[in-house]
Amino acid sequence: MLHISLHLVVPLAVVGLFFKKDWKIAYFIMLSTMLVDLDHLLANPIYDPNRCSIGFHPLHQPWFIAFYFILSFYPKTRFIGVGLVIHMVLDAIDCYPISFL
Ligand SMILES: [Zn+2]
Repeated sequence: MLHISLHLVVPLAVVGLFFKKDWKIAYFIMLSTMLVDLDHLLANPIYDPNRCSIGFHPLHQPWFIAFYFILSFYPKTRFIGVGLVIHMVLDAIDCYPISFL
């Protein structure tokens, strides 16, 4: 549950810090980037709390992450890119068994 709440709270914090002017649209787009997790539907089991998503699911591959990073540099795709990068960072936290949270 903590993981999912981070996916809601962290984008909100980023929007509040950097995109105050357009926070509604920015937050909406960033929440929409959670749709990348639809690739989990291809996995079996669909959800496994002990699995590392990065490098496992089709849309969580390193070259896609590089692409999301590039998206965040272009004004038109910035919110999508930033949202996806945040998503990948949060997913990556799950890849380290040392639980500091
Ligand atoms: Zn994910």
